[in-house]
Amino acid sequence: MALIVQKYGGTSVGSPERIKNVAKRVARWKSQGHDVVVVVSAMSGETNRLIALAKDIQSQPDARELDVMVSTGEQVTIALLSMALLEIGVPARSYTGGQVRILTDNAHTKARILSIDEHNMRADLKAGRVVVVAGFQGIDEAGNITTLGRGGSDTTGVALAAALNADECQIYTDVDGVYTTDPRIVPEARRLKTITFEEMLEMASLGSKVLQIRSVEFAGKYKVRLRVLSSFEDEGEGTLITFEEDKDMEKAVISGIAFNRDEAKITVLGVPDRPGIAYQILGPVGEANIDVDMIVQNVGHDGLTDFSFTVHRNDYQKTLKVLQPVLEHTKARGVQSGDKIAKVSVVGVGMRSHAGIASTMFRTLAEEGINIEMISTSEIKISVVIDEKYTELAVRVLHKAFGLDQPA
Ligand code: ADP
Ligand code: ASP
Ligand code: MG
Repeated sequence: MALIVQKYGGTSVGSPERIKNVAKRVARWKSQGHDVVVVVSAMSGETNRLIALAKDIQSQPDARELDVMVSTGEQVTIALLSMALLEIGVPARSYTGGQVRILTDNAHTKARILSIDEHNMRADLKAGRVVVVAGFQGIDEAGNITTLGRGGSDTTGVALAAALNADECQIYTDVDGVYTTDPRIVPEARRLKTITFEEMLEMASLGSKVLQIRSVEFAGKYKVRLRVLSSFEDEGEGTLITFEEDKDMEKAVISGIAFNRDEAKITVLGVPDRPGIAYQILGPVGEANIDVDMIVQNVGHDGLTDFSFTVHRNDYQKTLKVLQPVLEHTKARGVQSGDKIAKVSVVGVGMRSHAGIASTMFRTLAEEGINIEMISTSEIKISVVIDEKYTELAVRVLHKAFGLDQPA
């Protein structure tokens, strides 16, 4: 007998029929003698609908009130799933994040989990009940409802698994595992049987939304056994996130390709090339709570240089505003910026022991006439910024160039 935490995403609970199917799956695990805690997302489209509704009233919705609002999506599905379980004779009880007491900080719309009270859940499990918990939400010290950022139900799932010391956390979604790249973009993408935790961390942070990055961080920190599976198939082992590198020598050097269209690029032109200039530009950006991703400072000419960086697209206008006084201050020649960019990344622990990955990547893009605007690398990934309109083409040709469409 094991303790299993299962998380079902929006599509998997997108209709009454699908909720009934989830209930059947949960009942099956329960009938095999396991203790089951289930985390659910809002029905697909619901969170987007709620955010749009809020924006009809306030173009930049108050963060506290937005959290009160979007957390209702998950409150609906916990009740519906509990009803579906009760209907087929499985004792179940639902909890909002606040009712569990998933304590978070007070950073509305992107709160972090601080602690989880296991008391109620343990008591229910002991009494033979399935515990159904609303994903994506918590409560702060003062009792305010908070949410964990888009895709946050994954993090609720893994955090509960960590708190309960569960045997496995199963993330049920609309694909049957983690693929070499988003299968919606590249039909030839293949499911990976395993992926290392490090690679998954990079894939998630570089845009593969199959798992929210914080859920992967949690899994790493608390050594949670994490598996991604399909909620639409009864068979299949999905993808296991492993902590050990696959020793199989045949394994591809690159495990996957990630991309995101969530960034904007800003270049400050003609700033004095002197010590402290990066700080003068990025200091105010950081103080405005804007996260900077990639940074490139060009080689200077005649005492002047260009300085480029990327931020989240949501922060694009805010960044330009913050930079206004900086431009005057540093006597910069101007700003060139755009939010029609994409970041495409190749990821693989095999990169550590193989040379030539960068050159293959750059050659492949060059052959398609795709210009690289920025580059950044780490031990196990290479990312490039390109024109957004080439995203899908770039992902497809790189997928092929690295042999990811061939069976491993
Ligand atoms: P859920 O609603 O279940 O949380 P998400 O839409 O958040 O589901 O995540 C699943 C989606 O992630 C898939 O439908 C797929 O399009 C996308 N995705 C992106 N990259 C990958 C990848 N490498 N492997 C699998 N799915 C991916
Ligand atoms: N419902 C939330 C969202 O759409 C959380 C989640 O689905 O994980 O982002
Ligand atoms: Mg998700």
